[in-house]
Amino acid sequence: MRILLAEDDSSIAEAICASLRHGGHAVDHVASGSLADTALRDHNYDLLVLDLGLPALDGSEVLRRLRSRGAGLPVLVVTARDGLPERIRVLDLGADDYLVKPFVLSEFEARVRALLRRASNRGVPELQLGRLRLDLPGHRAWIENDPLELTAREFGLLEALALRADRVTSRTQLIEALCDWDQELTDNGLDIAIHRLRRKLQGSGTGVRTIRGLGYLLEEDGESSGESA
Ligand code: CA
Repeated sequence: MRILLAEDDSSIAEAICASLRHGGHAVDHVASGSLADTALRDHNYDLLVLDLGLPALDGSEVLRRLRSRGAGLPVLVVTARDGLPERIRVLDLGADDYLVKPFVLSEFEARVRALLRRASNRGVPELQLGRLRLDLPGHRAWIENDPLELTAREFGLLEALALRADRVTSRTQLIEALCDWDQELTDNGLDIAIHRLRRKLQGSGTGVRTIRGLGYLLEEDGESSGESA
C-alpha cells in the first residue's frame, strides 16, 4: 500500500516511516500542509497519516480540501491536540480515526492495519483466489496450506493485483503501488518482480497474465485447481 505521511516533527516522522516501511508499505513523507495538499492532488494514496499542527497549511484545512474534492481515502489523524471538541471537529471534517500523541507505535500500526483492511477489502482481512489465499494485514500468502515465501515487494505486487483481480492493472499503477519517492522501481525492476512472482505462483492455479499494451491480470490459469469431487 502507498501511504502519505504529513508530519513536521522529524523524529516522529522518522519513527512512523520506519514502522510503515517495515510493514511493507511505500511511504512518502511531507513536512508541511501545503506539500501534503499538492501530493494528495498529484498521487494516489491508500492512506493519509495527518498531523494537525503543520506549517504552511493546517492539517484540518488539508483534510477539508481533500474531502471537498471527493477523495475517499482513509485518514488517520495523529496530533497532540487532545481536547474532545477538537476530536469531534476533526472526525466531522472527514477523518476516519484519531490518535493522540504521544502514542505507542504498536497501537498506531494496529489502527493503520484496521483502516487499510476496511478500505481495501470491506472488512475482510483475507482474500481467496482459487487455491491462493492472502492475509493482507499480515502480509502472508499460502497455496492451500503451504506458505508462499514472498519478499515485501513480491507481496505488494500480488496484493495490488489481487485487489483488482477482475480488472487489468497497468504498469504505472503497479509502480505507484510499490514505490515511494525515496525508492525507485525501474521498468526492469518491475519485470524482475513479476517474473519472480510468476515462478512462485506456479502450481497455485492462479497466474499473472500479460494483457499486451494494457498491463496485467491476476487470474486462475487452469493449470491446476481441479479439486472437483
Ligand atoms: Ca506538528
